[in-house]
Amino acid sequence: MGAQQSVVVVGAGPVGFLTALGLAQKGVDVTVIDSEPAVVRSPRAAVYFHTTLAILDKLGLLEEADAIGYRNSRFAMHWPATGDVIRTDMRDNPEPGQRITHNLHFGQHLLAELVMAHLLRLPNARVRFGHRLTGLEQSEDGVRLSVDTAAGPTEFRADWVIGSDGARSTVRRLLGLAFEGHTWPDRFVATNIEYDFAPHGFEDANMVVDPVDWAVIAKLGRDNLWRVTYGEDARLDEAAILERLPERFARILPPGASYRIDNFSPYSVHERCATHFRVGRVLLAGDAAHACNPCGGLGLTTGVIDADALIAALGAVIMGEADESVLDFYARERRRVFLEVTSPLASNFKRMLSETDPARQAADKAQAMANAANEHDAGAATTLSAMIRGAPMPV
Ligand SMILES: Cc1cc2nc3c(=O)[nH]c(=O)nc-3n(C[C@H](O)[C@H](O)[C@H](O)COP(=O)(O)OP(=O)(O)OC[C@H]3O[C@@H](n4cnc5c(N)ncnc54)[C@H](O)[C@@H]3O)c2cc1C
Repeated sequence: MGAQQSVVVVGAGPVGFLTALGLAQKGVDVTVIDSEPAVVRSPRAAVYFHTTLAILDKLGLLEEADAIGYRNSRFAMHWPATGDVIRTDMRDNPEPGQRITHNLHFGQHLLAELVMAHLLRLPNARVRFGHRLTGLEQSEDGVRLSVDTAAGPTEFRADWVIGSDGARSTVRRLLGLAFEGHTWPDRFVATNIEYDFAPHGFEDANMVVDPVDWAVIAKLGRDNLWRVTYGEDARLDEAAILERLPERFARILPPGASYRIDNFSPYSVHERCATHFRVGRVLLAGDAAHACNPCGGLGLTTGVIDADALIAALGAVIMGEADESVLDFYARERRRVFLEVTSPLASNFKRMLSETDPARQAADKAQAMANAANEHDAGAATTLSAMIRGAPMPV
């Protein structure tokens, strides 16, 4: 067993790494552990909004993220049944106080690897892959973590533990916390395909509204890979989903499209939230704390906001600048934002995409047109990004 660490972060995903980097930059001793042998590279989040980019900027990561990613400010909503398309450009209509008027597109594994590179330059930070958390015991003085490695079981001791180990969080389970909510009855299929949508009326980020053939289509980065996400019957197994894929693409993609599939990943989607985000010396962040469907791209976005809030709150407690009540504030506020804002918004995006009622679809279209035409409300508190950011940590 090693010396007591100040903070052990469980989970080397983007949220764990960002929290670790922010704390380490404040001088906190941080160890990140992850069960996998390296950063997980499965195709997941790919679009970073200005809220996320502002946080990357604070941590000194924006310039390099900009060099890796693809800048996009344009978005389109398509209604193929009527041929209607609403196009918007955020440069025409920035939110009050918005400095960055584009999104960046790149795979989330690249973000994790970028943050890890910065973390490993700091003498007070270390990363241990191949370390699976299996047990957790806490007292007033600290937390003992039982960890399995290829060389056998080992233990860590920490003043504080951050559970950023994803939607199937072991930390959350070991704390005995329920993950309340529901799993959607349909499955989402995330595909990365080589095909140029641009000449066919698509912007670099798109939502396609249809009761059956709804889709989210976005350019993945600087080359010609695009993410096409669509819905499938949850009763189909992976082989059946793959077999039906050409038929689905024939309806979703432009007629006669010739494409190459680079990656294919069906997955279940959840709207779930842990009952508490803090138990004593253990805090939850990112998907370990809350999971929503990815329509609207709010999953990782709100996880990055958790990281930012936790850096401020836990950093202040460790540095003796705030008492522990700020950690309860973190836990309550981030949970409130998920339940009152993030999850309802994500659920509404999902409903809108596959709306079957023509009257509601017409109302959605009218609302989308009004949103595209109107200036943002001068009261910043009403903007979507202000709502998902929630109240600042009182430190
Ligand atoms: C197909 C798909 C598309 C998505 N698209 C978007 C999008 O466009 N925009 C968006 O905002 N969000 C999107 N999301 C959601 C986004 O991927 C998640 O919100 C994000 O990965 C959460 O990051 P995280 O760091 O909290 O957890 P994760 O990235 O899941 O990282 C958790 C880490 O914990 C490790 N771990 C797990 N158990 C243990 C253990 N016992 N011990 C040690 N380590 C452990 C895992 O190996 C992993 O590295 C998408 C998700 C999917 C599946």
